[in-house]
Amino acid sequence: ATPTAVMVGTGVGASQGILIKGGQALESAHKVNCIVFDKTGTLTIGKPVVVNTRLLKNMVLRDFYELAAAAEANSEHPLAKAIVEYAKKFREDGENLVWPEARDFDSITGHGVKAVVRNKEIIVGNKSLMLDQKITIPVDAEEILAETEGLAQTGILVAMDGEVVGVLAISDPLKPSAHEVISILKSMNVESIMVTGDNWGTANSIAKEVGIDTVIAEAKPEHKAKKVKELQASGCTVAMVGDGINDSPALVAADVGMAIGAGTDIAIEAADIVLMKSNLEDVITAIDLSRKTFSRIR
Ligand code: ADP
Ligand code: MG
Repeated sequence: ATPTAVMVGTGVGASQGILIKGGQALESAHKVNCIVFDKTGTLTIGKPVVVNTRLLKNMVLRDFYELAAAAEANSEHPLAKAIVEYAKKFREDGENLVWPEARDFDSITGHGVKAVVRNKEIIVGNKSLMLDQKITIPVDAEEILAETEGLAQTGILVAMDGEVVGVLAISDPLKPSAHEVISILKSMNVESIMVTGDNWGTANSIAKEVGIDTVIAEAKPEHKAKKVKELQASGCTVAMVGDGINDSPALVAADVGMAIGAGTDIAIEAADIVLMKSNLEDVITAIDLSRKTFSRIR
């Protein structure tokens, strides 16, 4: 392609809300044959909501949620926000709402939170957090978790003073276009892979819904980047699509990093292409534009 064609291509992208940071990004995009998608906030809407509560102990829901929310109120995680938001339903004090004080707050990245509230030790998070804290997971909690994950929801355990007292089901639905985007990419000979920090059960259910066969779950940020490098070593030209801080190492490692416009600043900075409208369809538009510019329409 001539420099003029590249300039035109970049301009067309910009006019459609696809910010391409330079000619190299536009060029690499036409060779992409593998795309690694982050799950939360990329394939899914990214606004999780609590959809179910199962108490394992005789407890008032209001008290249960007050303690869980007091612990989670200190966390920035979307799941924490979902729990705090839902907990408000059990209170009448509206605008003036204050949670009980949380002492010794600790956030365990990729696992959950821990705090002392009303002299009780509250732990909210996934199975591995409970196991790390030497908390036994009762059989009924295991069953509820499996059920929740089968429904493509995330199960979160709540423990009080060393005992699991409840399981929350949190749902973050797929973006309406997700399934179609994956199937169009397939028809363009581009293989899609999903990576997520979420558990295997939920990840597999979501992948099935969206039509992705290859999944990596319980992935730390460095695992996401490692997967990108593995695909490159196997001969793929790799695009990574993500929105979070935890996606930035993978966005940098990829041949083409694509950030969702609504994502975090760090992801946007790390990317080569920014999808300003946050539409997943624009992944296809960007590749199309590159293929047209470099006249490799197959
Ligand atoms: P992702 O956002 O890709 O799902 P994270 O690494 O942020 O991945 O989190 C992985 C998992 O850790 C979550 O699915 C959840 O089970 C658990 N987790 C993380 N933070 C919290 C939190 N504040 N409260 C409860 N669970 C959490
Ligand atoms: Mg994400």
